[in-house]
Amino acid sequence: MAGYTVQRVSKVYEGTVPTVTLKDINLTVNEGEFLCILGPSGCGKSTLLEMLAGLQQPTEGDILFDGKKLDGPSRKLGVVFQDPSLYPWRNISQNVGLGLEIGGVKKEERKIRVDKYLAMVGLEGFGSKYPHHLSGGMRQRAGLARALVGSPEVLLMDEPFGAVDHLTRLQLQDDLLRIWKEEKKTVVFVTHDVSEAVFLGNRIVLLSPRPGIIHSIFNIPSQHPRKRDDVGLLKIQNEIYAAIYDIKTEEDLEFTI
Ligand code: ADP
Ligand code: MG
Repeated sequence: MAGYTVQRVSKVYEGTVPTVTLKDINLTVNEGEFLCILGPSGCGKSTLLEMLAGLQQPTEGDILFDGKKLDGPSRKLGVVFQDPSLYPWRNISQNVGLGLEIGGVKKEERKIRVDKYLAMVGLEGFGSKYPHHLSGGMRQRAGLARALVGSPEVLLMDEPFGAVDHLTRLQLQDDLLRIWKEEKKTVVFVTHDVSEAVFLGNRIVLLSPRPGIIHSIFNIPSQHPRKRDDVGLLKIQNEIYAAIYDIKTEEDLEFTI
């Protein structure tokens, strides 16, 4: 069962003034679903995703993956960050295959797997190019291939399309949905873009800041493939905007007290 149970999780960053970044998060991530985590900058989205990746530990509470307590990174969890951080001295195939190389996978087998995922993300024929030859969108595709090549059960993505131009971003969203269907992954996708979350997700978790708590969860019953101008989706989008204005109002109240 490649899903998560997040139980009463809080995260405090110590410092001169300790920051309560996330407070009492309770959440289930179901196997095979596409879950979006939405919220304004600084509300703790990356912190939550890094904890789901096993890269950070909660201060309080537990994160269960596959029914077992998660206490570190795992091959079952593939991570894609906004900056793909490709090594400039390795070509794209070598970057994508790095984890396999470290894992001792033989060269021939590595080539087969790297080529498969390069083709899947639309980078067929680019394996021998170096990162600086590629556009931002293509580098992000390479980052996705690097996460997929190890056959993880879950893809954890932190604003992966945040730095690419708008039209490329729409194309990357379409491609990601196709890959999600083909590969039957569980996806947790962090974004601060409402329309992106509504187009992609089966559910959207809206976080509100200081401390980060779950403000509301939206179900999006519409099947994929979706149309961007679907009336049902636009209605949910408006409900989410209303909830975001509600967060702002709460903050204003806090501010005036
Ligand atoms: P988001 O991804 O939603 O923008 P983050 O999870 O990056 O939010 O950060 C949430 C809050 O936690 C911010 O106030 C940030 O300054 C603080 N924070 C994040 N990482 C650290 C860290 N390693 N040490 C101290 N504070 C941190
Ligand atoms: Mg972030």
